[in-house]
Amino acid sequence: MSTTDLAGCVDLHIHSTCSDGTLAPAALVAEAATLGLRAIALADHDNIDGIALAMKAGAACGVEIVTGVELSVLWGELNDLHLLGYAFDPEHPALGEALIEFRAFRTNRSRMILERINVQLAEERRAPLPFDQITARAGGTLGRPHIGQALIAAGYVRTMEDAFNRYLVPCNVSKRYFPIDEAIALIHAAGGCAVLAHPMFIPVDDRQLEALLDTFVAMGLDGIECWCGGADNATVDRLLTLARRKGLICTGGSDFHQPGSGPTLGRGLGNLRIPYACVEELRERAERYQRG
Ligand code: AMP
Ligand code: FE
Ligand code: FE
Ligand code: ZN
Repeated sequence: MSTTDLAGCVDLHIHSTCSDGTLAPAALVAEAATLGLRAIALADHDNIDGIALAMKAGAACGVEIVTGVELSVLWGELNDLHLLGYAFDPEHPALGEALIEFRAFRTNRSRMILERINVQLAEERRAPLPFDQITARAGGTLGRPHIGQALIAAGYVRTMEDAFNRYLVPCNVSKRYFPIDEAIALIHAAGGCAVLAHPMFIPVDDRQLEALLDTFVAMGLDGIECWCGGADNATVDRLLTLARRKGLICTGGSDFHQPGSGPTLGRGLGNLRIPYACVEELRERAERYQRG
């Protein structure tokens, strides 16, 4: 049994090879077990295919798996808000169908982004990247990070940050977004809770964030991610205060994508210790939706 400082804690925002993470679900569960985490949730973009694999691995090593997914949603001018779904039924047909549609859209979009990048590469007198080099890197949902990895492998950029700055942001093509109210309703229909991810990345001030939350709560939002991979302690405290004032469930996760850069599993960028209580609150709330 592990005795790290994370023993008994949770991480509810992890990306696997089913979206833009580099570790497979079973490897993530093994790492979580090593850290002593009590529960984890994969929150792959538009993809829940890793959940069954994670559950199998989790059952073998005593890590509880909460079903999770991360959806890209919009509200008014704000596009690319991220909404987490938790504790839903992974076999729910409407959810599965919606995710298949969103992934198909992403595949076309990646092809269009690559076409734009190849125009830019031609102008730079560099060889184009073939689309199958991108798809070969993806084990599920295609995303810009897979194109970034190919740009790095070709020696055109050194880091993912460079890939985004020089190619992936200027050549971006919009994803398809759920309107947030529809996404919340879909998650509830699948028997799960809807949680706003990393609210500090939403480009609004504190007052506007509070007004936004009131709107989303009226739509049925259940919680906000307070212990975020990219948040410092002061931000975590601010989000916890806000969530409690609004009667929202406080959740947390690292947004781990890969070892070696960005947030680390369980801890995020700093020293997160995310309490198991949020899993109990999510499960309790989700039961309401499951009863219908
Ligand atoms: P996509 O969903 O295809 O638009 O890709 C967005 C994903 O790319 C995010 O979920 C992050 O994982 C990653 N990402 C976005 N911006 C950056 C950046 N500047 N540097 C590294 N990764 C990024
Ligand atoms: Fe991502
Ligand atoms: Fe996100
Ligand atoms: Zn994420």
